[in-house]
Amino acid sequence: MEPWVTRSELDRAPEGRLEDAAVEAMWRHRAARVIGVDERSNISSDQTGNALRPIAPEGGYDPEQHYLVGTVAGAPWFAVPAATQGPSASLRQLGGVLEETEADIATTAVALVNWHRVAPFCGQCGTRTLVREGGHMRWCPGCDRQRFPRTDPAVIVAILDEAGRLLLGHHTGWEDTRVSILAGFVEAGESLEAAVRREIREESGLELSAVRYVGSQPWPFPRSLMLGFVARAIGDEIRVDGTEIEWANFYSQSEVTRLVDAGELTLPMRSSIASRIVAAWRTGDLTI
Ligand SMILES: [Zn+2]
Repeated sequence: MEPWVTRSELDRAPEGRLEDAAVEAMWRHRAARVIGVDERSNISSDQTGNALRPIAPEGGYDPEQHYLVGTVAGAPWFAVPAATQGPSASLRQLGGVLEETEADIATTAVALVNWHRVAPFCGQCGTRTLVREGGHMRWCPGCDRQRFPRTDPAVIVAILDEAGRLLLGHHTGWEDTRVSILAGFVEAGESLEAAVRREIREESGLELSAVRYVGSQPWPFPRSLMLGFVARAIGDEIRVDGTEIEWANFYSQSEVTRLVDAGELTLPMRSSIASRIVAAWRTGDLTI
C-alpha cells in the first residue's frame, strides 16, 4: 500500500484569499456556493444524505461569518456558521459517501466553522480577534499576532504480527462487537514515531519493529488530523491497558470475514481512515 494520493479538485486559493476585496469578489461570483454548518457540525445535504446541498450567497459579504473554503473549477465555495434549513447530515455520515472533492469541501467547512466558534479571543492578550484571509487566519488588534487554526495530530496504527494477522481492539464504552485498530494523540514535544510506539505499548503491551506511514485524514471532531501507520509487532503477547482498551486480538483475514459475517465483529465506519486501512489489509494491499 503506497501513501495515498488525493484526487480532490479543491483549490484552497492561498493567494486569492489574502485580500478582503478579492474574497468579496468571490462571494459575488455568479457561480459561488455556500455550505451551512450548524452548531452540531451538521452540514446541509440533499434529501438522500449522499451529497452536499449548497445554496447561492445571500446578502453582502461579511468576513466575520463567510469563510472561503476554496474554488472548484473556478467556482468559489464558502462555509458559513448557520442553522441548517432542510436536510442535513454529519460529516461522519457524509464522509463515507461523498466523492473526494465534496468530502474535501465538507471537511474544510466543518474545520473552519468549528475553529472560529471556539477561537474568538487572543490566547496571548485576551483581545477579541478579527477574521482575515477569507477565514484562514485571525488577527489580534491588541498584540498584532496572527492566529491560525490549530490541528491536533493523532496516530492510528495497523499492527501486524509475523503471520500477517491484524490487531483489532475493543474500546471500553463501545457497543459489544465493535473493534478498530489502535489510536492515540501525539503529546507535546513528541515525534510521530515515538507516539506510535508509546501508544501501542500503553494500549496493548506490544513492542514494534518496523513502522511505516501510509496516509492521513483530517478528522475535525473538533480538530484532529489522523496519521495512519502500519507496524510490525515483536511477538504476539497482548496485555491491554483495561481502561481504554478492554480487549484486543490478532485476526487473520478469513477470521475477520467469518466473524463479521456472523455479526460477532463490527468494523470501523466507512468514513474513517481506520476503515480504509482495514479494507486495504483485507484485500492484501497492506504490508510491511
Ligand atoms: Zn493578542
